[in-house]
Amino acid sequence: MAEAVLGFIGLGRMGGPMASRLIDAGHRLCVHDTNPAAMQPLVARGARAAASPAEVASTAATVLMSLPTPPVVQAVALGERGIASGTAVRTAIDLSTTGPGIAALVARGLAEKSITLVDAPVSGGVAGAKAGTLAVMVSCPKPFYAAVEPILKNFGRLFFTGEKPGLAQTAKLANNLLSAAAMAVTSEAMAMGVKAGLDPKVLLDIINASSGRNTSSQDKFPRAVLTGKFDFGFATGLSYKDVRLCVDEAESLGVPMVVGAAVRQMLAVTNAKFGPDSDFTSIARVIEEWAGVEIRG
Ligand code: NAD
Repeated sequence: MAEAVLGFIGLGRMGGPMASRLIDAGHRLCVHDTNPAAMQPLVARGARAAASPAEVASTAATVLMSLPTPPVVQAVALGERGIASGTAVRTAIDLSTTGPGIAALVARGLAEKSITLVDAPVSGGVAGAKAGTLAVMVSCPKPFYAAVEPILKNFGRLFFTGEKPGLAQTAKLANNLLSAAAMAVTSEAMAMGVKAGLDPKVLLDIINASSGRNTSSQDKFPRAVLTGKFDFGFATGLSYKDVRLCVDEAESLGVPMVVGAAVRQMLAVTNAKFGPDSDFTSIARVIEEWAGVEIRG
């Protein structure tokens, strides 16, 4: 049986596969993306393409978004022809990583139009988005959680963090700091080992059988660094944004982040050298250049 139509804005590396999973589950979608090519695979599967976020929000009572940066989320939610000017929407689910400040601001702006924000950042990468194995962190009023749970379950495992807008964002930032830190420090350890004469594949196998193993040693290095592809699927600009938001949030809470600040600088260098659209595994290329060694299988 066909389900009610859902709106979906932002059909990039994460949003595309998540929207596709909603179609798999029997939902009808109304979609929007500023890049027509991103909408095409969903339209080919029966989704209706809308010309603006307002058009999506005048078609669907529940609108999901997966957008790159906090300013884009703010503009799509509250700007001209944004979600807030839709006539049908009651619930907006934000799957993007925006930080707690913007989540609270967007929640307030939407509330003025009687629209509830469900803050629902995700973790688990493009592979998790395709497979429906993401961690989905959710903060929103409890009754709305019950209503959106069946939709969000299509994406993976849910974690309800509380009612305060932005609390789920804080959980997400903590995770992404750790992910980026693992990428940076694993690059340093691998560069040292390879320069000393260790085979990178053997060193990775040792780390992954030992206490140093982490998401970079297990996933990112075998797939994107040893192969020289640097194509894991998460942009440097997005990782830099997440760690910046995290260190800023820690500072505003009075929590020192000495290591976090160093990770932020590693991403600043990677962003300056390889650009925001490069893959964030390019952190390893910066360390390779400094060390004068290549970490290849
Ligand atoms: P992406 O850049 O691949 O996708 C973003 C999409 O939004 C693009 O298709 C773009 O055209 C579209 N877009 C940009 N501005 C728009 C606007 N004004 N209106 C409508 N559409 C617009 O990014 P992504 O990797 O899919 O990440 C999306 C969000 O999910 C980010 O907040 C990111 O931090 C977060 N995230 C990403 C990953 C990952 O591994 N890629 C994992 C977890 C969370």
